Amino acid sequence: MESNRKLKMAIAFASVAALSVFFSLHYRRRRKQRSRRCACYLRADSKPQDSFRRVLADNSYSPFKHLKLEDGDSSYSHPYEAEITALLDCPQLEFTFYPDEKIPTTRDTYTWVETEQQLNELADILIKERVFAVDTEQHSLRSFLGFTALMQISTQDEDYLIDTIKLHDAMGILRPVFSETSICKVFHGADNDVLWLQRDFHIYVVNLFDTAKACDILSKPQRSLAYLLETYCGITTNKLLQREDWRQRPLPQDMVQYARTDACYLLYVARCLVGELKQKENESCFDDELHFVLEACRRSNMICFQRYMKDIEAAPGESAASSIISRHLNGQGGESDDFKAQFQDMVRRLCSWRELMARVHDESLRFVLSDQAIVALASKVPTTTTDIFDTIRQADFNTDSLSSSMPSPSPVVYSHMDGFCDLLQERIDNCNEISLVVLQKCLGQDGTCPLSVFNYSVLVNFTMRSTNKVVSRQNGTKSLKQVSRKASRELFVKKFSCKSPVYHNCRIYANDGRLLCYCDRRKLEWYLHRGLAKLVEDDPPAVMLLFEPKGRPEDEDNEFYIQRKKNICVGCGEGNHYLRYRIIPSCYRMHFPEHLKSHRSHDIVLLCVDCHEVAHAAAEKYKGKIAEEFGIPLFVRNIVDLRDDHVASEPCAMGINFEQAGISPLELRTAAMALIRHGQRMPQKRREELTQIVMRFYGGRDISNADLERALLVGMSSHERRRLEKKRGLSLKHSNGGIIPDKRQIGSTKKMMISSTVNRSKVETVDVSFSEEEQQYVNEEITDQVETEPINPGMEPEAPAHDNNNENTICYTSQNGNLQNEGLDLGDSRNDETQPTHNPKLSLLGHGPHGKQVVDHILKEYGEDGIGVFCQRWRQVFVEAINPRFLPAGWDIKHSGRRDFGEFSVYNPIKKALAEAAKS
Ligand code: AMP
Ligand code: MN
Ligand code: ZN
Repeated sequence: MESNRKLKMAIAFASVAALSVFFSLHYRRRRKQRSRRCACYLRADSKPQDSFRRVLADNSYSPFKHLKLEDGDSSYSHPYEAEITALLDCPQLEFTFYPDEKIPTTRDTYTWVETEQQLNELADILIKERVFAVDTEQHSLRSFLGFTALMQISTQDEDYLIDTIKLHDAMGILRPVFSETSICKVFHGADNDVLWLQRDFHIYVVNLFDTAKACDILSKPQRSLAYLLETYCGITTNKLLQREDWRQRPLPQDMVQYARTDACYLLYVARCLVGELKQKENESCFDDELHFVLEACRRSNMICFQRYMKDIEAAPGESAASSIISRHLNGQGGESDDFKAQFQDMVRRLCSWRELMARVHDESLRFVLSDQAIVALASKVPTTTTDIFDTIRQADFNTDSLSSSMPSPSPVVYSHMDGFCDLLQERIDNCNEISLVVLQKCLGQDGTCPLSVFNYSVLVNFTMRSTNKVVSRQNGTKSLKQVSRKASRELFVKKFSCKSPVYHNCRIYANDGRLLCYCDRRKLEWYLHRGLAKLVEDDPPAVMLLFEPKGRPEDEDNEFYIQRKKNICVGCGEGNHYLRYRIIPSCYRMHFPEHLKSHRSHDIVLLCVDCHEVAHAAAEKYKGKIAEEFGIPLFVRNIVDLRDDHVASEPCAMGINFEQAGISPLELRTAAMALIRHGQRMPQKRREELTQIVMRFYGGRDISNADLERALLVGMSSHERRRLEKKRGLSLKHSNGGIIPDKRQIGSTKKMMISSTVNRSKVETVDVSFSEEEQQYVNEEITDQVETEPINPGMEPEAPAHDNNNENTICYTSQNGNLQNEGLDLGDSRNDETQPTHNPKLSLLGHGPHGKQVVDHILKEYGEDGIGVFCQRWRQVFVEAINPRFLPAGWDIKHSGRRDFGEFSVYNPIKKALAEAAKS
């Protein structure tokens, strides 16, 4: 008996071993074959959209972010809601659409707009108009979400064709014209155009007259533009051109003509239609309630209320799969249930694969793989490459319209054949896995596909959503983490490394010819512009001051300011990419007295991404030490049970672990916000977890809905509070009871919460177990950080504001998926400092309350000398962390940071006092 069992086990063992050897050999051989074949077609095939630097609607699963106006509400509402609402009651139409009774004749010339300067000139022209006509042409075949390839604008005098591909990143120039209430924009069938303009350019149309809406009211037999052109202008158009490839450049002559025709008669047509509407008004004397013109305007402006949204579905390709399945299986009765099940399963996988590939490669679904090809593949399930190709080709050939213009199979299928075979042969067994494998293969460590602005967020986004769902089924999770890490590093380098050399190495000489300092161009220009200096050399430029500077660098015996600075990482010497690093964390520095913030070029150095990460991690760790030493926790906690309207956040009592006590203000706010907004809809478990987070702030006691509201206020600026007040009515609607789980439920999850206590020295907001909707909310909150406005408006001492938003704030996911954030400096020689009020969120991520309390404490106990010592400690931390070998000569841990103010410096106390006086 016993030996029999042993034998059985031995056999079982042996066969498992043999199988695994077999599979690993098999797999290795396949891998070899693959690596020879794999080269993504995109490496050779460049697309016009590759040149876009700013893509508002990327291919990720995160929701579209709308334009945020400075004083506006969140990105959840329409930025011009108020203006549009006002127009609904009171349309602005006291002008003539077209000056002439006669049908316009085609003008000889048109203006092709393709440079930023031309676009600016056009904006200047349009802002003076009372009305103009607009149309756009889209490209959707070789793009996942589509993009605007051309915009036609016609005024009463002139036709403009705007190359919206070349000017993609500059189109915002037209934003004010389109949102200007007093200028009427005439479209025909604006429904799509309005959304496309939001999607690509954050352009919002306000004051619209849609000739199609006028047709509806007049009960015209047809509402197409072709019909109107024929009826009113006697012109026939070839609508087939509508579906041409509008990316072509130069645009063929017939397409230019077609595009112009779509816009240039619109003003005249509008005039005719308004005439008829007015006439109808007069005729219908029985019913003076009907104002036909007004109604046309009202319906038109209702279109403007639309907001662009991405379609976001639960699983990739799910809706397409359902529609294919229902279309196909409907007419077919004879198939067996087995066949049907297999067919459906195969359609789902193919759709899932197709959608991910389309996102990654920025192609339309139909370009990647047609619906009919999916049906054919799912019915036949071919196994060899040749069979697969033939099946696709045959299916496409049978449907006439596609076969002529598109390669079949598409280059996407063709160059990613191995993944495709795995899919068909069911080596990958569920949809989640398909996604992981696809992303791994395409964008992973040895991924085949180029990482572009269109697909990196797919990766980061998707990884966050799925890592927790597919809990380490294989080694999948681990490698995916690596994928995501690699991607976020690349993303980081791309987004945040300085685009051009930081140090321009321009020189400033004193009037006696002695070198004062090196600086950037803008600083030179500042002096030149004000006649305070004259140019003495051109390349690299140098100026001589025309006034006597206060103090010379030599006086301070410091060569730091009078040497060329190299554009390399001061840590390792890397010269290809680098970004600015603040040695003294801004959560402290922002609270220093103004005169101690100067000389900031000393404490801002260039680091490559790797050194940046190391230095940052060390600084974060040291913040924990500071927290302990000063008894000021990094995070807030409300230990006093306050039932009044005032929220007081106090440091935790002494003697507890300062990293774990309390809670990050951002985490608190995010949890409270999620509970208020989505509390009722989220899964109970998640709701309890979030409730626990908020409870931690209240010292563990039970919380009420009012407590949630109060938690929102923690760390908010007064401006933000006002905004919240305004929104309050809205959010309260969702919060009617039922959010807070009862005590018993909380009790059941308590243990889990304690054991999952995380290291709070980093802000853990990217909680992968968030519900989807909540995740979207959090994502938005986080990506906000990336797109924050320039941080130092208005207090520019010596140079104009920078326009390079991306360099202001870093926000990246590092190894642990932690979010890290440091304010970045803008120029190498400016002396201003980020103010907490400009970006309240910065303080949420960057330990704002802690920073202020520490600085206040130092100033109170040790005065300004204390700040000096404090800075030295941070420089020490920096030096120990990365052992910098390329610091400029003269850089010194003991640097004083003091300086006197010159006559022309905005920091000059007299000048400041004068400025203050002038203000009040
Ligand atoms: P239009 O409003 O006629 O100028 O059309 C604007 C854009 O919509 C065109 O450039 C096409 O990309 C797209 N479009 C409109 N109608 C169709 C259609 N029937 N088929 C394909 N694309 C269309
Ligand atoms: Mn058109
Ligand atoms: Zn590829």
